[in-house]
This record gives sequence, structure tokens and C-alpha cells, in this order.
Amino acid sequence: MEGTARPLLCLSLTEPNLGACLDQVRAHRHLVDMVELRVDLLHPAHWGGIARFASECPLPALCTIRRTRDGGGWVAPEAVRRRLLTAAARAPFRFLDLESDLPAGAVPLPRHGPRIVRSLHDIAGTPQHLPALLRSLPRSGREIPKLAVTPHGCADLARIVGAAQAAPRPHIVIGMGDFGVPTRLLAAKLGSWLTFTSTGGRTAAPGHLDPHAMQRRYRFGAVGATTPVYGLIGNPVAHSRSPQIHNRGLAAAGVPGVYVPFLVDEAARFLDLAAALGVRGLSVTIPHKETVMDLLDRADRSVSGAGACNTLVQERGRWAGYNTDAAGFMEPLAAMLAGGRIRRATVIGAGGAARAIVWALREERVDVLIANRTLPRAQALAAQMDAEAVALTAPDLAQRIARYSDLIVQSTSVGMERHDAAPAAQDDPIAHVPLAGHEVVYDIVYAPPETPLLKRARAAGCEIVFGREMLLGQAYAQFHLFTGVQYPAAERRRLQEARP
Ligand code: NAP
Repeated sequence: MEGTARPLLCLSLTEPNLGACLDQVRAHRHLVDMVELRVDLLHPAHWGGIARFASECPLPALCTIRRTRDGGGWVAPEAVRRRLLTAAARAPFRFLDLESDLPAGAVPLPRHGPRIVRSLHDIAGTPQHLPALLRSLPRSGREIPKLAVTPHGCADLARIVGAAQAAPRPHIVIGMGDFGVPTRLLAAKLGSWLTFTSTGGRTAAPGHLDPHAMQRRYRFGAVGATTPVYGLIGNPVAHSRSPQIHNRGLAAAGVPGVYVPFLVDEAARFLDLAAALGVRGLSVTIPHKETVMDLLDRADRSVSGAGACNTLVQERGRWAGYNTDAAGFMEPLAAMLAGGRIRRATVIGAGGAARAIVWALREERVDVLIANRTLPRAQALAAQMDAEAVALTAPDLAQRIARYSDLIVQSTSVGMERHDAAPAAQDDPIAHVPLAGHEVVYDIVYAPPETPLLKRARAAGCEIVFGREMLLGQAYAQFHLFTGVQYPAAERRRLQEARP
């Protein structure tokens, strides 16, 4: 294990009894390299059984008794903890975690006992002088220093990555919490000897991901020090399905790489850090789609056309910006456009998404009517794009739309799923506009899959296009920009078939 170039994945056991902990080991041994027995999470009745656990555990085991001040669950007296650590040092554990402030001699260590992981946790923040702190931890050449701190933004994350990459190996360096997730997924880039995972509805530390997510969604076992990194920058990012779409594509295409969600407070600071992590391409989401435009070395015309940048690609060491929302929107319409079925279209909404859509349609010489709640916004966009504008409240709205009805695009947030209630029939921004059945109706809202407008359009006999298709289309276009290869057709079919 010591010579492994790739970091190990260590499952922190979260069950309160030893039998259930062993069950967790058996259920996940195909996904992880070793386990951590968290004695602080065990019921006291099981403390006496830890030596037996060490001899029965089918994977190498690390023993840890984490105090509450370090983010653990240990609330009993320190003297009891030291007695248990002493017992663990004599048991057949391969590794034993001892904190950096534990006085020398507090836990007598037998000559051929477990290897010591010397840890320091900061659950509140990221201390200054991380490189010196990391160097100061080991008390002998055999000890493995472990630093687990809490970043509150990209500046902290950059310091953590820098300290890890500069430190002698082996070491374990972890950023806890949401900003620290990349330090776990990209442990290989930090040179970390291992990283932790936990399961069972109870995480052993903030930011832990489930072993299935680590291996299947984030390709942990396939990520080495030189693996290209792609990702999503935004705030929030945890809900995004982009990692699943891109990582499945990378695996199916046999292209080296991993796609990681990066919670980003300041895009400029993140881009400073990107080279150190080997980042080659990024998807960009709210709130950075406009701000990254100032950070580009080169902007594709899709960026100025759509007025936003949702894709960053490293091209010869420089950042090139693209917008794939327009291409993603057009993808399901390609055959209809080529066949001349769509010449005149109505776009409902005049926000960020509408801008990319109107630009894409105008590029294809489609005549466009923009219908928006706020008329001046529609008029401003129409003036830029050489289109028509109308207010959603206009008395002649139905007649105006009827003249632009080869395609009707719904691009407002109306019809979106809310946490308190499912969308109802009135969540259709053109509820009083009749549909004849010849129109193609495209709602870019993707949750719920079928919005009230799409339900009505289906019932009227219209061809309908789901928002999910735009979402996937823009991801496929990004994949191509990132890797130079098309998103694999078989995986594409699988995603398309999963649609409602
Ligand atoms: P945005 O820039 O904030 O624009 C919102 C638009 O919705 C504006 O036109 C706004 O009209 C209109 N609107 C909001 N509430 C309304 C209401 N109660 N009645 C009538 N109109 C209303 O947002 P965006 O970025 O364009 O995104 C809009 C929607 O598209 C979101 O649901 C988003 O999830 C979805 N989207 C989907 C994809 C995809 O890949 N499928 C991609 C991008 C966006 P006013 O101008 O009058 O305020």
C-alpha cells in the first residue's frame, strides 16, 4: 500500500456497533482500500471489542477516537480515550490516529505497533502558515501527517492545495465542508496518501461523499496526478447533474479525465488555482456566467451573441470562452430547421436564456417575436436581435403569436417545480393563447419534465420538446469542446431514453 501512486480510499465506519461496522466493511470492500474504525461513534458497550474488530476486519484498519473539538463524537473523559488508544496501539490495527497535541508518552506505543497518523483538525477555518504546520506534525519519519481544515472560499482552497503539493509524502491533506470537496475527489492532485468516504446516511465528517459516488460518479480509482480535470464552477453546485453526465461520457468514450463540482465564490481566484489542479475545461453556472467574460483570453462569438459564457476551455495555456446554451437549444431542432419547418418563432421571456435562444434562432434566419411580462425588456432584446416584441398582457397576443407559430419557445421560469407545490394549469405563461396543433412547443424548464404548457401542447396535438434536451445538448457540446471527441452515442441514447 505504501508504494501506491494513487491515493487510497478509506471508509470511515459510522455504525454504533461493531457487528454493523463489519457489515459496512463487507458491503463496501470492493469500493475501498481500507477502513477507519471511528471509536467515537461507537456505543460505549462496544469499546471493549475494538481489538477483536481489528483481527476480524478483512481490510487494513485505522483506529480513530475523534474528540468533539476536532469534529468527532467523543464526549467521555480524556483518560478513558487514552486508555482505549493504548489498547488500540496493542491490537492488530495497521494504523492509529493520534492528534498533534497529544503529549508524548500519553499513549505508549509498542515497537511493532500500528503506524501513526498524526492529525490536526480545524473545524472552524483554514489556519495561516499551512506548509509549516504540516511539516511540524510528524514526530518521526514513520508518522504520516494529516491536516484537515475548513476552507471558506477559493482563496483558502488554493492555500490548502499549495501546501499539500509542496509537502513531502506521504501526507494526508483534506479540506472539509463544501468548499473542500475537490480536495477529496482530487486527492491524487494534492499528493494525499488517502482520502475518506462514509456511508449509511451518517457522514463521519463534513464533505464526505458516499463510496459509490466517489468511485462510480467521480471515477476516484481512475484519477491520478496527471489526469485531466474538468468541472463545474458555480454557487450552488451540489445539486447539479453535470458531473454524472460528463463522467459517464468520459468513461464510455475511454477518455482520461474526471469532472468535478467546484463551489466557487470568486471565479478569478478559482482560475488562479485551476492550473495547479490540472483543470482543462469548465462548465460555468450561476452566478459566474457573466463575470467570467472579463477573465477570458479569447471569446467565441457565441459568448457575445448569447451575452454570457457557460464554458471555459484551456487552449494553449489560455482560457477560451464559449456559450453552448445556444447550441444545446438548437440540437433537438436541427432536423426541423434543415427541413424548413421552422421559419417563424415566438420566444416567451426576455431573460438570460431567452437571449441565447433568440440569438441562435436569428443565426438560422428564423424570424422571432419576443413576448415578455416586462415589455421594455422584450423591446431592448428585440432591438439588438432584429426581432419583434410584445407584452404578455397585449390584447392581441394570440393573433401576434399565431403569425410566429412554427415554433413556440417557453423560456421564463414560470412552470418550474417549487418546493411547496407542483405547478398547476395557471403556471402556463400563455394559458389563454390557443394552440392549433401544428406548432412545435419547446419549454426549456426541465423540472418538472412536462410543464403545464407542454401538457396542453401535447393534448392539442403539437410536437413537443422537453427542456431536458437543451440541458443535455449543451452538455454534449461542452464535452466536445473539452475533449475533442463527440459524446458517446450509446450513452447519449441511454440518457435520451431516461426522458419522460
Ligand atoms: P432570467 O434571466 O432571470 O429571466 C427570467 C424570465 O422569466 C424573464 O423573462 C422574466 O420576465 C420571466 N418571468 C419570471 N417570472 C415570471 C412570471 N411570474 N410571469 C411571467 N414571466 C416571468 O432567467 P433565465 O436564466 O433566462 O432562466 C429562465 C428559465 O430557463 C429558468 O427556469 C431556467 O431554469 C431555465 N433554463 C433552462 C435551461 C436548459 O438547459 N433547459 C438553460 C437555461 C435556463 P421579466 O423580464 O418580466 O422579469
